Amino acid sequence: MVMPMDYQLNFNTFVSMNIDQLYDIYKQYPSIQTDTRQLKAGDIFFALKGPNFNGNTYAAAALEKGAAFAVIDEEAYFTQPEKMMLTSDVLETLQQLALRHRQSFDIPFLAITGTNGKTTTKELVSTVLSSALKTTATIGNLNNHIGVPLTILRIPSDAAIAVIEMGANHEHEIESYCKIARPTHGIITNIGKAHLEGFGSEEGVRRAKGELYDFLRQHNGTVFVCNEYPYLMEMSKGIPTVITYGQKSADYIGQPLADSALLSVKVTSHEGIGQIDSQLVGAYNFPNVMAAVAVGLHFGIPAEKIQSAIATYTPSNNRSQVIKQGSNTIIMDAYNANPSSMKAAIENFAGITAEKKVLLLGGMMELGPDSVKEHQALVDLLQRTHWHAVVLVGGDFIKTNHPYIFLENAAAAASWLQQQQFTDTYLLIKGSRSMGMEKVIL
Ligand code: ATP
Ligand code: MG
Repeated sequence: MVMPMDYQLNFNTFVSMNIDQLYDIYKQYPSIQTDTRQLKAGDIFFALKGPNFNGNTYAAAALEKGAAFAVIDEEAYFTQPEKMMLTSDVLETLQQLALRHRQSFDIPFLAITGTNGKTTTKELVSTVLSSALKTTATIGNLNNHIGVPLTILRIPSDAAIAVIEMGANHEHEIESYCKIARPTHGIITNIGKAHLEGFGSEEGVRRAKGELYDFLRQHNGTVFVCNEYPYLMEMSKGIPTVITYGQKSADYIGQPLADSALLSVKVTSHEGIGQIDSQLVGAYNFPNVMAAVAVGLHFGIPAEKIQSAIATYTPSNNRSQVIKQGSNTIIMDAYNANPSSMKAAIENFAGITAEKKVLLLGGMMELGPDSVKEHQALVDLLQRTHWHAVVLVGGDFIKTNHPYIFLENAAAAASWLQQQQFTDTYLLIKGSRSMGMEKVIL
C-alpha cells in the first residue's frame, strides 16, 4: 500500500516501552480497538492514522472512555505515560504485537489468498472447522495490513486453529502478512485479473499471490490446491505437503451439480459426506466448497458435520445471494466484480436452465489501461449466448461495441427494471462495489 508521504516520515526517536512490555499489558487486556466509537472499557486503543484522521488526537478520549491503555506515535499526545505507550509507528507496533502473539501459538495457521473467493472460502472453511474445533477466523473482509494483525490479536490462548484471509493489490503485501501470521497451511483460491492497476499484469498477480506458497515452501508448510488450476499445481511445486481437491485425480474429489441457481456438490472420494446442497450460487463456488471439504477432512472434522456446516452456510453482503421476488429469481452478486469473477458468473448463468434470463452488469473498476479491452471481452463473451435482455451499467462499458442497453448508473437500471414487469425470469446482477448494483432491486 502506498502511503502519503507524511505518514511515512517519522520524527519520533523516543519509544516508551518495548514489545514484550506491551505484550504483558495485552495479556491482561486482550481486546484491541482502533476506533473510539466502538471502544469498550478495558480495550487497548491503537491510535492509527488514515488519510483523513489521526488516531493520536483520540487517545485521551479513549482513555476517558475506559480504555485500559493507548498506543500512540506523536509525542505531543503523550500526556498519560502510565497508560500510554509512545512508539515510532503505531501500525508497525500493532503488527509487531501480532507477531509476538502469533509466536505464542503452536497450532495450525491457515492463510487464504487468491483473486476471487477468499472470503467465501474462508467462511466455508471456518464454519466447517468451528463445528468441532475452537477456531478463530478473519471477520468479514478484514484482510489487509490492519485486518491481518487485528485478526491474530483476537486469537484466544486456547484456540485450536486460526484461519486468516489475506488480500493484496500490490506485490510484497502477502509476503509481509506471512511474516506476521507465519502460516503453517495455505490456500490460493485462484489467480485471475483484479487490481491490475497495482499489479501491472496477471503475471504480477501470480507473483504476488505466490508469495504465500513461497513462505510455505520455505517453512515446511502444507497447501490445499484445486488441481483444476494447472498454474496453481505448477506454482505449488517444492512445497513439502501438497493436498489436492477437484473433480478428478485429486486427494479429495467431488462433482458440481449446478443446473439450478444454487450449487450442489457430490463428494465421491470420501464416504459419509455425500451430496451437499449449498446455499451458494454458481459452479464457480465448487472449488470453494471443495476447499472446505478438504480442510475439514484433513483436520479430522466428522463427515456429517462438514456436510451440515457447508449446507447451512449462507453468504452475506450481496455475495452471490439468491433472492426470490414473486416469480423471479435474482442472483445478487453486487459485492464486487473483476474480469475473472464476471466471466465465472456469466458462464454459470449461461448454464442455468431457465427460459428468460436477464443480466444487469455494472462496470469493473481498477483495471488500468486494459479496462476498455476487458469490458469488451465480456461483451464478446455475452454475445455467445442468447439472453432475454442485457443491461450494461456505467464504467467502461460505455466505450465498448455492443448490441445491448447501456444505462449510466444503478438508479437508471432500477427504473428500467421496474418498467419491465418481468415474471418467471432469472436475473443476474453484478458489478464492482462502487457501482452499488444492489440498488437495482431496491
Ligand atoms: P475481496 O477481494 O473483496 O476480499 P474475495 O476474494 O474475498 O473478495 P468473495 O468475497 O468470497 O471474494 O467473493 C466475491 C465474488 O467473487 C463472489 O461474489 C463471486 O462473484 C466471485 N467468486 C467467488 N468465488 C469464485 C471463484 N472460485 N472463481 C471466480 N469467482 C469467484
Ligand atoms: Mg474478501
